[in-house]
Amino acid sequence: MAFEGLADRLQNTIQKIKGKGKVTEEDVKAMTREIRLALLEADVNFKVVKDFIKRVKERAVGQEVMKSLTPGQQVIKVVKEELTELMGGEQSKIATANRPPTVIMMVGLQGAGKTTTTGKLANHLRKEHNRKPLLVAADVYRPAAINQLETIGKQLDIPVYSEGTEANPVDIAKQAIEEAKANHNDYVIIDTAGRLHVDEHLMDELQQIRDTVQPTETFLVVDSMTGQDAVNVAETFNNQLDLSGVVLTKLDGDTRGGAALSIKAVTDKPIKFAGMGEKMDALEPFHPERMASRILG
Ligand code: GDP
Repeated sequence: MAFEGLADRLQNTIQKIKGKGKVTEEDVKAMTREIRLALLEADVNFKVVKDFIKRVKERAVGQEVMKSLTPGQQVIKVVKEELTELMGGEQSKIATANRPPTVIMMVGLQGAGKTTTTGKLANHLRKEHNRKPLLVAADVYRPAAINQLETIGKQLDIPVYSEGTEANPVDIAKQAIEEAKANHNDYVIIDTAGRLHVDEHLMDELQQIRDTVQPTETFLVVDSMTGQDAVNVAETFNNQLDLSGVVLTKLDGDTRGGAALSIKAVTDKPIKFAGMGEKMDALEPFHPERMASRILG
């Protein structure tokens, strides 16, 4: 299960302080030392850990805790609030353009789950928001990617706009929006090309598509199993494309959690959705508070 090691360690740590009728600075120090190690072991970015520990320490030895009748529980509340804040605080909802269609551009490295997530997102929009999405196959470099999206479209009974592998992705995206207007599709979700590594050509092309279609949302799809790499990828894509949000995939796997806990702090962009499996309904809006509760037990 995701976060298992981290959850175990944090729960152990906070158990020790939970029932205390009096919490000393020494207790807080011991606790934050253990939390620090647990977070580092879960592959959370070291600078993120440092800032997090500083905030918890400040608050835990502060008035709100020391003067409370249940200081042990108060400390735990502080840890939970800070963990929630770390993952973005409030849940961040999907945006809608003033004038339809709302264009969502999906970007990410190959294998992260971009094409799958494109389908899942369309399914979510239709099911939960009563929307009528159009999927766009703009990854022209891998014929398999186009087939994959078309298969997903058939499975979901959601239309897929494709011009095969010969057309230019910028033109495909532009045409797709015209098609959406003609057919009254209120969301257009563009599945762009991915590479094994970030490269200049990929970024150039993504920037061109973005400048042309001016998406309301630009979502980076990242694999939570890749830990710090996911954070580095997010930072690079964000610098180049000014993302509006992140979708973390494979949170159903045994990810240690580093990506989920670092991405918001490093990029200042919210995690909007979490991929929880391979099936088309395995996508959930990301709730920082619920996730923090899950980790802290
Ligand atoms: P792309 O290259 O980024 O388009 O990646 P794909 O969409 O083809 O996904 C790569 C693999 O990851 C596929 O086998 C997907 O089924 C799988 N995958 C995608 N999202 C998730 C997820 O949230 N959980 C799990 N367990 N597998 C996922």
